[in-house]
Amino acid sequence: MTGANYHRKGFGLKEQVDVELNFDYDSELIQQLRSNGNVMQRGRVTIKLAEAFGFCWGVDRAVSMAYETRKHFPDRQIWITNEIIHNPVVNNNLKRKDIRFVQFNSDGSKNYNEVQADDVVILPAFGASVEELNLLAAKKCEIVDTTCPWVSRVWNRIAKYEKSDFTAIIHGKYNHEETIATSSRSGHYLIVQNLQEAEYVCNFILEGGKKEDFYQKFHKASSPGFDVDTQLVRVGIANQTTMLKGETERIGKLFEKTMLTKYGPDVIDEHFLSPGDTICDATQERQDAMLKMVDEHLDLVLVIGGFNSSNTGHLQEISEAKGLMSYHIDGVDCLLPGNRIRHKSLHEGIKETNDWLPDGEISIGITSGASTPDQVVAEVLERTFVLAETQTAP
Ligand code: SF4
Repeated sequence: MTGANYHRKGFGLKEQVDVELNFDYDSELIQQLRSNGNVMQRGRVTIKLAEAFGFCWGVDRAVSMAYETRKHFPDRQIWITNEIIHNPVVNNNLKRKDIRFVQFNSDGSKNYNEVQADDVVILPAFGASVEELNLLAAKKCEIVDTTCPWVSRVWNRIAKYEKSDFTAIIHGKYNHEETIATSSRSGHYLIVQNLQEAEYVCNFILEGGKKEDFYQKFHKASSPGFDVDTQLVRVGIANQTTMLKGETERIGKLFEKTMLTKYGPDVIDEHFLSPGDTICDATQERQDAMLKMVDEHLDLVLVIGGFNSSNTGHLQEISEAKGLMSYHIDGVDCLLPGNRIRHKSLHEGIKETNDWLPDGEISIGITSGASTPDQVVAEVLERTFVLAETQTAP
């Protein structure tokens, strides 16, 4: 999109909003921890913070642009097409600034009925679909686009596939906003959530199978009218930027091997295109830091971030794969009275667990997703110290 009603950068008010942003999201405790080599001991609890955690560059930029937008358009109705990022604290702060969130209809579609011409609409860090952009342009809204450049990088890849008539195989979650936005830029696409689904597709390419089963399995995760006979012949790999990097790489290699087996090395370029490096730096750094942290001696791990945050969920996966006692929580309210914790388990959804904080000396590893402010992490730490102290009090 271009034109006077389309804004891809801030409004030159960064310095003004920085004061507010620091007040809303920064934490002195976390700064202390950082300057102390990411380790802190209080009473019987030792905290070890991952080397990379919390707000990423793209989220920082999106939130800052949203604050600037409010300052630049003090009297206009402002909307966000969805959550600006997957964090309830940030989203609630924006609501307090009278920024409204587009609501969902009962069928899962978004309800733009109340959005009027001349309203300002902010697109979130994970982007918006082509259909949404067309609708907003037709309504003549003012658009502030905070889409992270890492996401745009994947879209450039998709455009290349589209031009060469390749089907985009997207490693992602079909109902995640970023993947919805990415797939909307592709004529033919198939979304695989994990290696198992990729193996199913590759087996189908090599061995064939019942088409009805294939269509049933991917009916929510493929382009309309997907045809296995013609649209699995030329494939290019793309990804949701926050997936597990190792898994995206394995999926890419699996498709490459499959197309090599089927068509041979001489014409492989006509049948397979790799994704390039499209897992974002921030996701990779947080995953690498988590892999390093889980190798240390830890009694338990707290992974802090929105329950619908994909990158936070992947940090939890790393911890669980290591066999550590690990709890994904979205903030301090998850630490309940009576040594109970409310958390999201990978396989059982949101649940409560008793006696999460063990007796005696304990080491707790802490990390947080790319959309989690430091203040949220600090609140969890403070409450944990207090809980540990009261638990041992006579
Ligand atoms: S996690 Fe990566 S892609 Fe997502 S907003 Fe942050 S920097 Fe951008």
